Amino acid sequence: MKPIPFTNDYIKLGDAFYVNTHPTPVTRPELIIFNLNLSQQLGLCDTVINSPEAVEIFAGNQIATGSEPLAMAYAGHQFGRFSPQLGDGRAILLGEIMSPEGIRYDLQLKGSGRTYYSRGGDGRAALGPILREYLVSEAMAKLGVSSTRALAAVTTGEYVARMQLVPGAILTRVATSFVRVGTFQYFSARGDLQSIKKLADHVIARNYPQISTANNVYIALLQAVVERQAALIAQWMQLGFIHGVMNTDNMSIVGETIDYGPCAFMDAYDHDQVFSSIDHGKRYAYSNQPSIALWNLTRLAECLVPLFNQKDMDAGIKIAETILHSYAKHYENNWLTAMRRKIGLLKQKKEDRELIEDLFNTMAMNQADFTLTFYYLSQLNRDDMTWDKKLHALFSNPNALHHWLKRWRKRLHYETTLSDKERQKKMQTVNPLYIPRNHQIEVAIRAAEDEGDLSVFHQLHQVLQNPYQPQKGKEAYALPPEPYEVVDKTFCGT
Ligand code: AMP
Ligand code: MG
Repeated sequence: MKPIPFTNDYIKLGDAFYVNTHPTPVTRPELIIFNLNLSQQLGLCDTVINSPEAVEIFAGNQIATGSEPLAMAYAGHQFGRFSPQLGDGRAILLGEIMSPEGIRYDLQLKGSGRTYYSRGGDGRAALGPILREYLVSEAMAKLGVSSTRALAAVTTGEYVARMQLVPGAILTRVATSFVRVGTFQYFSARGDLQSIKKLADHVIARNYPQISTANNVYIALLQAVVERQAALIAQWMQLGFIHGVMNTDNMSIVGETIDYGPCAFMDAYDHDQVFSSIDHGKRYAYSNQPSIALWNLTRLAECLVPLFNQKDMDAGIKIAETILHSYAKHYENNWLTAMRRKIGLLKQKKEDRELIEDLFNTMAMNQADFTLTFYYLSQLNRDDMTWDKKLHALFSNPNALHHWLKRWRKRLHYETTLSDKERQKKMQTVNPLYIPRNHQIEVAIRAAEDEGDLSVFHQLHQVLQNPYQPQKGKEAYALPPEPYEVVDKTFCGT
């Protein structure tokens, strides 16, 4: 078996950026799951990572040849309050690898022991949150949402103390960068412009090579990050995903969904839904996500502005304002394009936005299930109402949608290029049947933590591999929770 071809570019940035840290070994690691497909995509399947010994690497008991592990420094606004030093308190970057497609990825352990940045924490992760992150991040990837990935998960054979003692676990996760908005803030808070520049140059060279020839690469970087975040949040919104803890340290510089703590998908549509048990002010509610992303991007802009034009700060601020102003337009374009697709519209008409909003309003008033509303809508014919029944049944007042469907069908008459079948097929590629429903994740976690039974997790994970296709015998996975099954609170699990 070949060694993992690690490079360690982050180390070259200098020791202001990290602290060299080895994982703390664990007593009895056991593999829960290994992502063979991802290892192939990364070009790692014929390396030691795809061998029985790899469990020692995933557990942090063995440092793979070529890896120079470190904990990254970052700061961040948590629920609006700035902490000048957070950093990887329970994550350790193992190194970087180049995929066969020429994309560079970071490999990181999460839950691998204390680091310089652990503060009062134990540096560990509980099995439940690791399973949640594995399930949801991989489901997001299959749903086409930009996300960090899960390469492997292991149990440690040790307990961690949370509300009670729970089994410990470690996730190996992968990102095209683990640099966050908070990484820039860390240096900004120290007035270290030189390091902000170094970090920006590193991110541009590695993740935004297309802007390296721009007149001012730092202005171009802010613009590019704004565009990626606008696209990402629109993806979340079109699936009913609620991140739950959009602190600036949890916002990736490359627009990947990162840090699956208290995240969840909504069942019944609720504009203001919050799952996180600690989000008392509803700061990170579903409907707030687009504006919170802009708030976070504004914090990034504050870090980058001094690089725009070092002689004229005011001019730099004006440029940043213009770029931040463009966020709304990018978000709106992404959102509207995606939502048009979800309801089967290819052409653009001015009244489309109102039509989409009225659908959401009707869903909200009738507690209609987000995912199934769009899934069943994808099966309807333009002129024949035979299949409408299932959709109506999702609404507490089954007649509520009647008027909306009439308008929708009228609107479909402008869509002359596609037949019913073709339109349905297209809609079914953007309206999933299976999402990682919160109550199902909870059942999988309970079975694993309480009974040591991982089969529920594995079955759910298997179904989520193919979110758009009905799977025989898996009908129950598509169903919203019964009232007694609803899980409307999530916990960070740190
Ligand atoms: P999070 O809420 O997971 O984004 O974490 C916020 C900060 O707390 C980061 O600096 C984490 O590294 C740190 N942290 C979270 N959980 C732990 C833990 N169990 N031990 C040490 N640090 C932690
Ligand atoms: Mg975090």
